[in-house]
Amino acid sequence: MTTKECPSPCLVLFACLLLLGALALGPASVRAEESTSGPAVLAVSSEPAGAKVFVNGYYKSRTPANVTIESATATPREYTLTLLLSGYAKWQRAYSLVAGERREVAARLDKLPGAIICLDPGHPSETSAGCKGSTGVTENHLNWVIALKLRDALTARGHQVVLTKSSEGEMVTNRRRAEIANGAGAACMLRLHCDAASASGLAVYYPDRQGTKYGVTGPGRDVIQASGAFAQGFYPAAMAVLSGQHKGRGVHGDSGTYIGSQQGALTGSIFAKIPVLTVEMCVLTNRTDEAFITGARGQELMVKALVAGVEAGLARLR
Ligand SMILES: [Zn+2]
Repeated sequence: MTTKECPSPCLVLFACLLLLGALALGPASVRAEESTSGPAVLAVSSEPAGAKVFVNGYYKSRTPANVTIESATATPREYTLTLLLSGYAKWQRAYSLVAGERREVAARLDKLPGAIICLDPGHPSETSAGCKGSTGVTENHLNWVIALKLRDALTARGHQVVLTKSSEGEMVTNRRRAEIANGAGAACMLRLHCDAASASGLAVYYPDRQGTKYGVTGPGRDVIQASGAFAQGFYPAAMAVLSGQHKGRGVHGDSGTYIGSQQGALTGSIFAKIPVLTVEMCVLTNRTDEAFITGARGQELMVKALVAGVEAGLARLR
């Protein structure tokens, strides 16, 4: 009975030791928190390596990298880590970090699904060498220059690009251009041109009905339908990039062009077995458009618009 009512001396001693330990631990843990100082570090690697690293939208380095975050404090703060690599989907995560903390991050980047895209820099063909601007710059030259820039931009995003010409001055018939696109197994064909007209801005044309050339009637109904869907995806996405910088003239059928009104469709469309879109990037005979398309900034915007248009158009085909 006595042992149950009165704690033994051993138990009292044990309880005292526990109390002392708790007293000692309390201030110690506070000291540890106070001593947490210096930047937080995100040790970021990615597969594949070489991705651009951004923290809260600010560029820091490329992977692999130890990214120091000076603004980290003893109180946890949230940081958004973003990795960008051409041809791969954007990778983004949020981390709660405190000063002095080191966090290992290993990101596996997802490859963007690439498509085979045929770019057809318009002219010279059996029908025309193309138009000219007031400064003497030729449509043929601009089509070629932008096609090469667009090829690089699309390739960087994981697409494969096939060109219908191997040099600026190469003459390729419009029928042959379509055959090259068909033979490449391309998902779509983008025909790049600059217009001669009284208006201003970008316009797109797709085969809205069959035409006949060299005794061949085409394209197939499936190509007409897919080309229309591609155009409806392409145009608003491209114009969203060009908004306020370059005008839009809308989506039209091939039958609205001079050649299309005579044949039913453009020759390059008649022989196409894949979705085809003719892009009149600007009106080269308009001085404002000429200044836009010959300038570095205008060309950069145009390429961005065409990339956005192609990817939005492809999304309509899936
Ligand atoms: Zn042209």
